[in-house]
Amino acid sequence: MTKAEEHIMDWLRDAHAMEKQAETMLASMAGRIENYPELKQAVELHLEETKEQAQRLSECIERRGGNTSTLKDAAGQFVAMGQGLSGVFVEDEVVKGTMAGYTFEQMEIAAYRTLIAAAKELGDTQTAAVCGAILEQEEATAKKLADMIPTITARYLERSEMGVTAKH
Ligand code: MG
Ligand code: FE
Repeated sequence: MTKAEEHIMDWLRDAHAMEKQAETMLASMAGRIENYPELKQAVELHLEETKEQAQRLSECIERRGGNTSTLKDAAGQFVAMGQGLSGVFVEDEVVKGTMAGYTFEQMEIAAYRTLIAAAKELGDTQTAAVCGAILEQEEATAKKLADMIPTITARYLERSEMGVTAKH
């Protein structure tokens, strides 16, 4: 393997670990939201997309001759961010969760932009296409979350003021 081939393999494996982390966070979030149906629906949809993304990444890794049986070794890398998104112990859980979710999507967007550039550099059009399709899902999710922030914040403040369950 050339240096560049080693790097893209590392980045694909990092991205896979990132998606596995996202899967855990999104599942935890989806399972807890009760009073924010729009957010719950968005999180559930992205959870399904995320599972597919991890699968598509492992296919890219295999096609490039990488070993997917040791993929779990990279897990845990994004734990700090994950704790933010699944931060269920804070009073304003839904607000912090949405912020962390948006932040996580931005990190994913940067990771896929990097992978697309590296894949193009190496002439790996299939990996570039897969990462391009995933990038679109991340950008759509980031936009959806950003657009929801005002509504979620307003509803949180209202429910909190009324003394009914606001946090999730
Ligand atoms: Mg993703
Ligand atoms: Fe995502």
